[in-house]
Amino acid sequence: MRIVDVREITQPIASPIRNAYIDFTKMTTSLVAVVTDVVRDGRRVVGYGFNSNGRYGQGGLIRERFRGRILEADPRSLLDGTGENLDPHRIWAAMMANEKPGGHGERSVAVGTLDMAIWDATAKIAGQPLFRLLAEQEGREADPRVFVYAAGGYYYPGKDDTALRAEMRSYLDRGYNVVKMKIGGASLAEDRRRIEAVLAEIGADARLAVDANGRFDLETAIAYAKALREYPLFWYEEAGDPLDYALQAALAEFYPGPMATGENLFSHQDARNLLRYGGMRPDRDWLQFDCALSYGLVEYLRTLEALHQAGWSPRRCIPHGGHQMSLNIAAGLGLGGNESYPDLFQPYGGFPDSVRVEDGHIVMPELPGIGFEGKSDLIRVMRELAE
Ligand SMILES: [Mg+2]
Repeated sequence: MRIVDVREITQPIASPIRNAYIDFTKMTTSLVAVVTDVVRDGRRVVGYGFNSNGRYGQGGLIRERFRGRILEADPRSLLDGTGENLDPHRIWAAMMANEKPGGHGERSVAVGTLDMAIWDATAKIAGQPLFRLLAEQEGREADPRVFVYAAGGYYYPGKDDTALRAEMRSYLDRGYNVVKMKIGGASLAEDRRRIEAVLAEIGADARLAVDANGRFDLETAIAYAKALREYPLFWYEEAGDPLDYALQAALAEFYPGPMATGENLFSHQDARNLLRYGGMRPDRDWLQFDCALSYGLVEYLRTLEALHQAGWSPRRCIPHGGHQMSLNIAAGLGLGGNESYPDLFQPYGGFPDSVRVEDGHIVMPELPGIGFEGKSDLIRVMRELAE
């Protein structure tokens, strides 16, 4: 068996929203297909992947470097010990041949996108949902019930507190009990007013997390911390620059509640540095590394090992991104949950059509691979690329 083609296309996921740092009016994603010569249930096995929102499509890197390394490798060198399935770890090593360490840039996004498609194909060839395959490989029990929270609350032209409250109410109506909104794109006084409006809306029905998207300098991050600690927040996310570990560490003195960060750290070495130098607290803080942006699941397994070494539980991980890949990792490897964007970044984000959120959790369907075939609008776009 072998990989016969790797296809990619850049697709728009534009939206008129903005956070504290960027707007999404020109946002794109790379959609990739790893085509194999294997047939399952009368159909050629094709694995699919895409990168998470917030980073742009990676077509140049995929076309110029990573696609060729997969297709030019000896096909046998990409297989597992049985020779009957792909080995995502070996394919990862082939993709990363002649890449120097450090300076991760966004090549991690290109590799993470391809890695998603490779795991999708691998689980399909094995005839298993990816989360069951992962649990089996790690010798643990899968838990198909996964915590999910609703991310939204973006700044949007003309959006007032009434619209913000209605948005949050709609998430509660759809079964969520943790919601998230953006801060840092307005003055502190204005953000306080927005936060208080949402807290008044959700009352005791849900918890609120806030996300500054790395906007603040130390002084502003502390000013917000002093204001935010008066509210019963679920977390205070990405206050300062994602690589400013000293800022993150200093913030703990001013913010006793849970904090979250990590979505813009793209390697296990960066994740390890956050744990070494960022002052993150394993009893309350949350880690949001997103495999689709950071070299994929092969690398995420190394990140989980770095967490383990530092005394962190995988339960403290709730990845960024709102994609089904991280849902599988959460269910298979015991993460604390996953982000979700109920109204954004479609058709890529979200759940298979049959899945409903209840009491802030979903239950994974038993679909081979990552489960894209269960989401009709998504699989239609995917099959246009390769089937
Ligand atoms: Mg965020």
